[in-house]
Amino acid sequence: MNLESLYQEIILDHYKHPRGQGLLAEPLGSAHHVNPTCGDELTVEVGLATGGGLVVGYEGQGCSISQASASVMTELVNGHTVEEAEAVRLAFIAMMHAKGAGEPDEDVLGDAVAFAGVAKFPARIKCALLGWMALQDAEIQSGLMTPQSNEKTQ
Ligand code: ZN
Repeated sequence: MNLESLYQEIILDHYKHPRGQGLLAEPLGSAHHVNPTCGDELTVEVGLATGGGLVVGYEGQGCSISQASASVMTELVNGHTVEEAEAVRLAFIAMMHAKGAGEPDEDVLGDAVAFAGVAKFPARIKCALLGWMALQDAEIQSGLMTPQSNEKTQ
C-alpha cells in the first residue's frame, strides 16, 4: 500500500468511526464554523477536565475531510494542555499551507499527517482546517486562550 492510499484509509476510518464526537455536558466555550463552498459545518466545544487537561467535543456534518479532520483533532488535543494543543494546531496549519512540500512531523501530528496530501488541493484545505479554526474560537470564547496569542496564525 502506498502512502497516499494509507492516508486515504486513515481519513476514511476517522470519517466512518469518529472519535470525540458529541457535545460537552459543561462546555466553557463553543464555536460554530461553516465552510459554505463545500457545505461543511462544525460546532466545537472546549472544557477542562478536573486534572486540567482539555476536553474537546464536536458535532457536525459535511465532507469526509472536514469530519475526519475534526475527529483526528479531538484525538490529538484531548487531555493535553492548551499550550500543547496549540503547538499541534499550529503544526497542522503549517502543514496545510505547505502545499505538500516538506515532511510533516508524525510525532507531533499523529494521524493528522494523513491530511498532508489534502494540502495539494486548495479547495479542500478549508475543509481540513474547519475544525481547527473552530477550536481556536472556542478556546478564545472560553477564556482559555487570549485573542492576541493567535496573531502568528493569521
Ligand atoms: Zn468539505
